[in-house]
Amino acid sequence: MKYNVTIGMEIHAELKTGSKMFCSCKNGLGLEKTPNVNICPVCTAQPGTLPVPNRKAIEAVQRVGLALGCTLRLQSKFDRKNYFYPDIPKGYQISQYDEPFCEHGVMEIEDDGIKKSFRITRIHLEEDTGKSMHPTGEHFTLVDFNRAGVPLMELVTEADFTNGKDVRLFCQKLRQTLRYLEVSDADMEKGQMRCEVNISLYKEGSDRLSGTKSEIKNINSFRSVERSIEYEILRQTGVLEAGGTLVQETRGWDEAKGITVSQRKKESAHDYRYFPEPDIPPFSFTEEYVEKLRSTLPELPDAKFKRFVSEYGLPEADVVTLTEDHHLANYFEAVASELGEKVESKEITVPLERALKLASNYILTELRKYFAENGEDITTIKITPENYAEFIGIVADGKINSSAAQTVLAEMYKGGDNDPSHIIERLNLAQMSDSSELEAIVDTVLVSNEKSVLDFRSGKQNAFQFLIGQIMKETRGKANPKVVADILTEKLK
Ligand SMILES: [Zn+2]
Repeated sequence: MKYNVTIGMEIHAELKTGSKMFCSCKNGLGLEKTPNVNICPVCTAQPGTLPVPNRKAIEAVQRVGLALGCTLRLQSKFDRKNYFYPDIPKGYQISQYDEPFCEHGVMEIEDDGIKKSFRITRIHLEEDTGKSMHPTGEHFTLVDFNRAGVPLMELVTEADFTNGKDVRLFCQKLRQTLRYLEVSDADMEKGQMRCEVNISLYKEGSDRLSGTKSEIKNINSFRSVERSIEYEILRQTGVLEAGGTLVQETRGWDEAKGITVSQRKKESAHDYRYFPEPDIPPFSFTEEYVEKLRSTLPELPDAKFKRFVSEYGLPEADVVTLTEDHHLANYFEAVASELGEKVESKEITVPLERALKLASNYILTELRKYFAENGEDITTIKITPENYAEFIGIVADGKINSSAAQTVLAEMYKGGDNDPSHIIERLNLAQMSDSSELEAIVDTVLVSNEKSVLDFRSGKQNAFQFLIGQIMKETRGKANPKVVADILTEKLK
C-alpha cells in the first residue's frame, strides 16, 4: 500500500518589541533570569486592570504579513481564547480568531535549484504564556510569569507540505525574513521561534486530508523539525501497514532518542469558546496606512540574493551565505562600495570583480572561521568595512602573500590597531617584489644548493620546487612567489 503525506504547520515567534503586548513591562531576553521580576498587575491579570495593545507589535506582525505576500485585513480585532492552564493568569489568552491581521500569504523556497511555493493561511497576534517549572523531586509546580504577555505572532500554513526537508527550509526562510525585518531574532534554541507540525498520511487515490493527524511539539531546532517529521512518517506508515489504527494525538519530540512520544490523545477539537475581547475596541486600518507600512519594508532575502548575483557577479553559492544574515549582507555591501571607489581611483589595480570575489572569499572562509571559534558574528566585528576593503586591496595587488594575509587579518580581528598598513609595517610583512633584491637572494641559494641545480638540469622537476622553497625560507615567506619563479627560471637556463 502506498501512502502520501500531508503536513501543515503552526509557527510561533516572539516579537522583539520594547515592551510587552498589553502592558508597559519590558520585553526581552536576559531580563528573565530571575522568575517573576518582569511582571505587573496587567500581565498577571489582577482584578480591574485593562490591556492596552502595543502598536509596535501590531505593525511588526503586519509588516511580516506584507513581506510574505499576505493581504492585511482592514477590519480586525482581538478575541479571548478560553482555556485553563496555570501559566495563563487570566484564564484566557488574548488572541485573534476570525479576523487575523494578515491572511492568504505565500512563501517561496528553493531546494537544489527547484522553486516551491507554500501557502500561508494567516498570521495573527497574541500574547505569550508564562512558564511552568517542575522542580525535580518535588511534588509541586512553580510558575514564572516573566514571559506572560510577550507579543507572539502565530503563522499558520496550509497543509501543503509533503516532506520534512521542505518544512525545514520554510522555517529557515521564515527566520531569515523575520531577522531581515528586525521584528524577531527567531532563535529556536532560545524558544523565540516554536514550530508545531501537523502530519497525516492518506492512501493514494483518496482525499489528501482523510488521514488521522498527529501534532508534533517540543521541536527546538531546524534539524529536529526535519528529523521528527521523517520519524513520524515512518511510524505512521508502520502502524497502517501492520493493519493498526492511528489516533489523533499530540506527540512530543524526544531529541535524545530521535523519536516522537505520545503526550495526550485528542478526542475532538478544543472548544475554546472564542469571543471578541471586550476590553479592546476593534481596529480599522486604511489602505493608505497599509501602503505606508509597505514602504517601510527593507530589501527582502530573495531580492537581495538576486541583486548580489547580478550586481557583484559572485557565484550563487557564495551569495546564499552572504545574504543569509542581513547584517553580513550589509557589511559586504559597505566593503563593496569602498572597493568600488578604490578601483575607480586606481588605488587598487585589479578589476573590481576580482577584488569583490576576494572580499567574499575572506569573509566566507577566514572571518566565518573566527566567528565560529569565538561565538561571534558580523555585528560584533571590530574590523570596519573601510579597513577590510583596504586589506582586500593590499592582498589583491599582491603587496603581501597569502600567508602574510592570514596573519594581518588575524591581527585586525583581534582589534586594537585595525589598520592593515600599520600591521604590515609593524610585523614587517610586506611582500618582496623587488627583482634586484630577490636576485641576490636567489644567487645565494643557488650557490649553497649546487646539487639541486644539477638535479634540475638533469631533468628532475621537483628540484625546482625545492629551490623555490629555499628562497621563500630565506625571505621568511615574504618573497613574491611569481617574481621568484621568473628569476629562478631565468638563472637556471
Ligand atoms: Zn506587565
